[in-house]
Amino acid sequence: MAKPIVAIVGRPNVGKSSLFNQIIGERVAIVESTPGITRDRLYRETEWAGRPFFLVDTGGISSNKNDPFTVQIYNQAKLAIDEADVIWFVVDVREGLHPLDQEIAEILRKTKKPLILVGNKADTYDPALASDFYRLGFGPPLLVSAEHALNLGDLLEQTVAAFPDGQKEETEEAIRVALIGRPNSGKSSLLNALLGEERAIVSAIPGTTRDAIDTPLQYEGVNYILVDTAGIRRKARVEEAVEYYSVLRAIRAVERADVALVVLDATDFLAEQDKKVAGIAHEAGKAVVLAVNKWDLVEKDDRTAQEYTERIRRELSFLDYAPVLFISAKTGQRIQKVLPEVYAVANEYAKRIPTRALNELLREALLRHQPPSRKGQQLKVFYITQVKVKPPTFQLWVNDPALLHFSFRRFLENQIRTHFGFSGSPLHFLVKRRTKG
Ligand code: GDP
Ligand code: GDP
Repeated sequence: MAKPIVAIVGRPNVGKSSLFNQIIGERVAIVESTPGITRDRLYRETEWAGRPFFLVDTGGISSNKNDPFTVQIYNQAKLAIDEADVIWFVVDVREGLHPLDQEIAEILRKTKKPLILVGNKADTYDPALASDFYRLGFGPPLLVSAEHALNLGDLLEQTVAAFPDGQKEETEEAIRVALIGRPNSGKSSLLNALLGEERAIVSAIPGTTRDAIDTPLQYEGVNYILVDTAGIRRKARVEEAVEYYSVLRAIRAVERADVALVVLDATDFLAEQDKKVAGIAHEAGKAVVLAVNKWDLVEKDDRTAQEYTERIRRELSFLDYAPVLFISAKTGQRIQKVLPEVYAVANEYAKRIPTRALNELLREALLRHQPPSRKGQQLKVFYITQVKVKPPTFQLWVNDPALLHFSFRRFLENQIRTHFGFSGSPLHFLVKRRTKG
């Protein structure tokens, strides 16, 4: 089910990042769990009352600090309107109503999305603090204090209650595909090319998230749903916000997909933003196909594709399992290979290996590769079983989880891939302690 997006909007200094940090509960620098993935501090996943969602501090979106405040504010408000499911419009109740609050209110008034007016810095409860803000036309503000963590429970409760209900049945037999990539990589061109390939069923159906339009498509007898095709066609109205816009779109689309089809631009190959977008798919544990688009524009000889692949393996090393296609959405080159590759990868993603075969593999692997030891203690792996699909997840029973190093995990993963494939699919591992006997 889609995880909703909650966007925090407001003029500078009202306490947006304080609110963000207080709720995410994470003030320290981010530990990179996957090497090679670039991330920013724009959004974090969190949850309230068992409902996961993304919290977005739109205050950080303006990359150009020379922009006047009004432009920055305009951008963040637009972004919230386009991408969020719930908007927190934050004001500072100590300072009182500010002309910029009025300007933001004007922009936000245009949306029908649920909006919560948050009166921050209400460190001591005083209803008089609220009265000024009635003039914004959003009713009384919900008084909170980010600094003292006051009333944040109420805020989160109201927020969760306003989420769109994602109860709509997903069409189970269809493979759900998210086309993601940086702006101008050719997503809408590829979408058109894919739809043009097959003139069968093409009609828009509403997705589970507000504003999302999914497009069903049948190709060679297989049903696909292209997720959030409206998001692909709708270009960001604000140049400044384009990058963040594409990141947010990707997060949301990937959440609802089985397979992420990551579109890379061959003419501007592997920019930082590509790593970010590809990282989203990896971190979400989705299957991935990499499509290097605009291949028609590349001057090539017989080694060029190999060289591009090597660069991908080096720079997107965390996606070493993803197959690479070289395509042109414009000329149609290898477009007919795209959906079959997605299909193959989706099958691998949903594949289950019998426990017995896994344990035979484990026994052989252990004979060939001495498990690591530390302080005279050697890792013993007793048993392995696949506990989940999408993504394939393996549970290992060992004598001491602390002894299971990254390199050994990696070795096991390679063994599993060599024997059982899983092309395009990430593999997850869970480790449990078991005493022998
Ligand atoms: P942003 O620009 O909207 O992200 O605002 P910040 O989160 O950076 O906060 C601006 C200033 O307001 C900082 O000095 C914060 O310490 C302060 N601040 C934030 N929340 C509160 C609060 O609840 N009470 C008080 N008294 N100060 C706050
Ligand atoms: P999006 O922002 O990712 O949806 O990218 P678009 O599909 O709008 O493409 C951006 C630009 O690249 C447009 O001018 C397209 O015509 C062009 N383009 C897209 N795919 C190809 C391709 O395979 N070859 C060439 N030569 N141009 C392409």
